Amino acid sequence: MNPQLQKLVSVQQMDNEIGEIQEMADLIPKQVVAGEKELEGKKSALNALQREIEELKKKRKQCEQDVQAEQDRIAKTKAKLPTVKTNKEYSAILTEVDAIKSKIDGIEEKELEVMEALEEKEAQIPDLEKEFNGECQKFDEYKKKKEEELKRTQAELQGLEAKRQEAMESVDARMAAHYEKLRKARGVAVVHIEGEVCQGCHQQIQPQVALEVRTSPDKIHQCQFCDRYLYFIPKPEEETETETAVSK
Ligand SMILES: [Zn+2]
Repeated sequence: MNPQLQKLVSVQQMDNEIGEIQEMADLIPKQVVAGEKELEGKKSALNALQREIEELKKKRKQCEQDVQAEQDRIAKTKAKLPTVKTNKEYSAILTEVDAIKSKIDGIEEKELEVMEALEEKEAQIPDLEKEFNGECQKFDEYKKKKEEELKRTQAELQGLEAKRQEAMESVDARMAAHYEKLRKARGVAVVHIEGEVCQGCHQQIQPQVALEVRTSPDKIHQCQFCDRYLYFIPKPEEETETETAVSK
């Protein structure tokens, strides 16, 4: 193969490698953000539980205040007893007190339910906190690992880019410029042919050009359709066939 073309082929291999590594490098910050989001989700579950607990505590406090208010009412009602003159008035007061007492029973029953719920929710906190802290630690380790991976990947990229630049410096300036243009526009700039078909644009090139690509690999050939540089990879079995043909 033409040495200039050979260099472009190796530059292209490096470019492919650089592209793959760059893709990996671009993925790393995204992976970290995804991990962060997952952690935030877990944190908000814990926050939701804590909010529920706060609500239950408020309800419990309200129950206590309600009980206290009703007990004050009982005291006030009972305070009327010494001034009572008739049995009817007396039993009316006792009925009122009984009514208040059963109201208190109702509130206390509700308070008990609230307290049970509160106890149940509060019991979940330590495990959830422990789990969350564990997740935080795991995430920190993951992030650190990813940051190191990014650094390594960037160093690898720098090395490859330096190597690529060095290789490109020894390529003829016009060919190098054409390569860059093709690479930018078409992704692949140097392709081989299969039969008479350009493996870049998959069009059939002129048989004469295909023949020249095969028989004069030291010359520079370009696809008439996509402008890509063309080369030919001799197949081992073809060589064997030729040898057999020659020996006959
Ligand atoms: Zn082509």
